[in-house]
Amino acid sequence: MKTQATLKEEAIDRAYAQALSKIDEQHRSRLERGLAILRNNEVVMRNNGAADIHGYAVTGKTCTCPDFTYGKAAGLCKHIAAFGLFHRSRQQLQHLQRREGYFCEMALRQLADNRTRYQFGQTYDALDHCTGEAVSYYAALTN
Ligand SMILES: [Zn+2]
Repeated sequence: MKTQATLKEEAIDRAYAQALSKIDEQHRSRLERGLAILRNNEVVMRNNGAADIHGYAVTGKTCTCPDFTYGKAAGLCKHIAAFGLFHRSRQQLQHLQRREGYFCEMALRQLADNRTRYQFGQTYDALDHCTGEAVSYYAALTN
């Protein structure tokens, strides 16, 4: 099984490729700079769904930086690009974790650890992601 760090890298690469295929040529360099921001872990999410990046308040569509405010960025400054990549990469990460059986692995570990009833509820949800070998292993564990 791939490590979480590897999956995260892969998710970011996928998010970038996805975004690249959808933006205009004029935004390309800002997207690349947004990618660097994301890789440096400089996207700080706030509880209200906005992000703090380099001291600017960023949403999916707006940013308080000069590049955006004075219109030079034509709607996509590097901060908004980073914000978009952050969300896309999160979706990709979940997809990859599911594919790698990560949630299943977690569920089986919890079962093996004999966790509480409440946690078993979540465990059973996670077991929905189990396939093939993992299910046989689970069956052997519970019989
Ligand atoms: Zn900005």
